[in-house]
Parts: sequence; C-alpha cells; structure tokens
Amino acid sequence: MTMNCISKVYLLTILILRPTSPGIAEGAAASREQVQTRVEQEYSNLFELYKHLHTHPELSFQEEKTSARVAEELRAAGYEVTTAVGKHGVVAVLRNGSGSTVLVRTDMDALPVKEQTGLPYASSVTAKDPDGKEVPVMHACGHDMNMTCVLGAARVLAKLKEAWHGTLVVIGQPAEERGGGARAMLADGLFQKFPRPDFCLALHDSAEVSAGAISYTPGFALANVDSVDVIVHGIGGHGAYPHKTKDPVVLAAQIILGLQTIVSREIEPGDPAVVTVGSIHGGTKHNIIPDEVHLQLTVRSYTDEVRRQTIDAIKRIVRGQAMAAGIPEDRMPEVKLGDDFVAATFNNPELTVRITSVFKTWFGESNVVQKKPTMGGEDFGEFGRTSDKIPICMFFVGGVRPEALKESEQTGKALPSLHSPFWAPVPEPTIKTGVTAMTAAVLELMQSKKE
Ligand code: ZN
Ligand code: ZN
Repeated sequence: MTMNCISKVYLLTILILRPTSPGIAEGAAASREQVQTRVEQEYSNLFELYKHLHTHPELSFQEEKTSARVAEELRAAGYEVTTAVGKHGVVAVLRNGSGSTVLVRTDMDALPVKEQTGLPYASSVTAKDPDGKEVPVMHACGHDMNMTCVLGAARVLAKLKEAWHGTLVVIGQPAEERGGGARAMLADGLFQKFPRPDFCLALHDSAEVSAGAISYTPGFALANVDSVDVIVHGIGGHGAYPHKTKDPVVLAAQIILGLQTIVSREIEPGDPAVVTVGSIHGGTKHNIIPDEVHLQLTVRSYTDEVRRQTIDAIKRIVRGQAMAAGIPEDRMPEVKLGDDFVAATFNNPELTVRITSVFKTWFGESNVVQKKPTMGGEDFGEFGRTSDKIPICMFFVGGVRPEALKESEQTGKALPSLHSPFWAPVPEPTIKTGVTAMTAAVLELMQSKKE
C-alpha cells in the first residue's frame, strides 16, 4: 500500500466516521424506529381506549371517571400517580436518572354539546351543568384524542427508558373548557409538591389540519380571554312616555356601538384585540321601558398591556355613555370581570423550533406546518406564567381526513370546527401521529444529561 493510498483511506475513514454529530444522529434514527414499532404495537389498544373515552365524556370539573381511568393507565405503565390535584387533576411521575424534567399535559374535560357525528361510538351521555340543568355531553374539542395521544406517549416512553434520562411528569388536567383547571392544579402545588419541570409540553387535536400532519405557532399562539358582564341600569316606565324614563335599551345600543371604537380607534394597529358583545338581554314587553339591560362580552388580547388597555376602555366608554344619557350617579352601569380568565398561550420560540425541527425530520417538512396565531383560548398558557418562567410549547395534531380537507378547499364549504357536534378527528393516523410526535419531543428534551 503506497503512502498515497494510505492517506486516501485515512481521509475516507474520517469522512465516514465524522459526518454530522455521530452519536445523536444515529441515536435519533434508532429511537425513531423503536418508537414507530412501539406505536404500532400499542395502536389497537389505544384505539379501544380512545373509543372508551369518546363514549364516556364528562363536563369540566366533573371528570371523576375520566381522571380515574387516566390514573389507572399511568399506574399500569409504571408511573408514580397522585390523584385529586386541583380537584380531578392527575399527576404521574416517572424517574429515569439525572437529566431534564419534562411535563406533558393533557386536558380531560368535554362540552355540553349533543353529538351528531353518527359514529358507532358516539356519546349519548347527559349530565347536570353548573346551573343544575340536564345537558348533553360530548368530546367536541377532542380532549379524548389528546388524552389518548399523551397516554400513548407515556406508555411508549416508559418502555423505552434506555433511550432517555431525566424525569417525566405526565398530568391529566381538569376543566380546560371553563378555564381554571390549570390554575387549580398550580394552586394545589403542582410545581412544589412534584418535580418542577424545565419544559412543559401539550398537544391538541386540530380540525383544520390534515390527519398525519402537525401544526405549530411560535410565540403568542392563543389569546387572553376575559368574560365581561355589563349591567346597564335605567329608569323604567311606560313605552309611550319615554320622556319620563331613562331608557337602558337605547343606552345599551349606544354602549355597544361605542365599544366598537376600542379596537378600531384606540388599540395600536398590529396589536390584536377583540371585543365581542355576544349577548344582550333586557325588557319583557313592547310597551314597557325596562329598568335594566344585561350585556355579555368576550374580550381577547395577547399582551397584558393590551388586555388592561381594552378593559379600561370598556369601563370608560360604558360610564361615559351613561353620563351622556343623563343616568344619575347612583344608577351608573356596572362592569364585572368574570373569574374564568384564561391567559394567553406563549409558545417559547426556541423550544418550539427545537421540537418542530425534530418533527420535520420524523414526519417530513411538508407535514409540519406553521400556522398563524388565533384569538382562541387555552389555559395551558398558565404553566408558563408562574414566577418559574418555564418554557412551554403546545402543538396541534391534524385530525381531518385529507380528502375532506381538499374538498373543502375546492368547494369553499366549511368543515366542522372544534366544538361542533359534527367534529371528531379520524383515529387513524391521528393517534399514531400524536403519540409519535409527543414521544419524539420528549426524547429530544431528554437526550442530554443535565450538568
Ligand atoms: Zn375547546
Ligand atoms: Zn380543547
């Protein structure tokens, strides 16, 4: 062998041995195969679990049986499980050596909606709502899918303990739909009584993305949501003698129009905000001017500053319009903020890039799409708003049949949205995608040992 030849072989060896960071790339490929094999093995059992959860939905803060099932599943998978954290919340911990602590959250509650999907496993459940009224119940937001995917990932990760190290905390959160579930768990010591996470992850099914694909939004993804009640007082009387009254119906109408100027004239263009008056109730009869009119508003924003500015403007306009109408000081309108505030979800940009890069490798670039932020609400954001300032990321798992999505794009006919009585994600491949994606995200965050 000539010297020339030796150096060629030597060079070739270097090129073969040192492509990209060798251990991680090979490790990732191995993990990916292992995960896919595990997911295939778990699928039929997870599909049964999904159908069970879909058929047995429970309303917010009533998730007794659901949380018991979530706890049972996690215990069977080898987790140390604590129940009744923030009412029906479940916390499951799996310790696997030193490393990062990652929290994975699923929500568990359903909605007062009468299911009309026609599925063989459709819900026919009814329950009493907080007002004591009997209502139909359905997993119309797909939290049954979220639970199935997170429980699937919890199982797969428990079986692949050699592929990661650190502490995994899986939580079943109650009452996402009414707001308050995340806060209840935090108030009950989620970050004090259990290992405090370095990262929090969540997934949600999507009624706008093709099954098999994933979508994400870095930064602000979902909005602050405030419910505001306005009670407009007047001085009632006969409809024929308006000059002897202070008409709250006309005043309410002026208030509603005045509120439209907040977003259009006061908030800086480019800072998203929404003020919607969703209900107006007042009066009993054609010829009676009532004493009172009630308005119900939903108010949305991303930043704390815009939130404050919008609420202050509502209070000012409501009072100002009442003064202009000559309402006496002791009959001024009341503006009440609901206690069901939901904070905006801010997906930590670095964390989002980190896990979606992994998704792109595992699922292909075209199956991982960035979406615009929306003014919808989700209380997952709470986990990133404590003084711990934990980076969080929620991503979306597509649940729409690709052909249905294509048809809707061609015809312009809208597909059922989340909360629709017709919405249910297609189980295959949504479950597999969700389980695989959440597993991949956790593996990514648990690869390196913490110093
Ligand atoms: Zn929902
Ligand atoms: Zn939801």
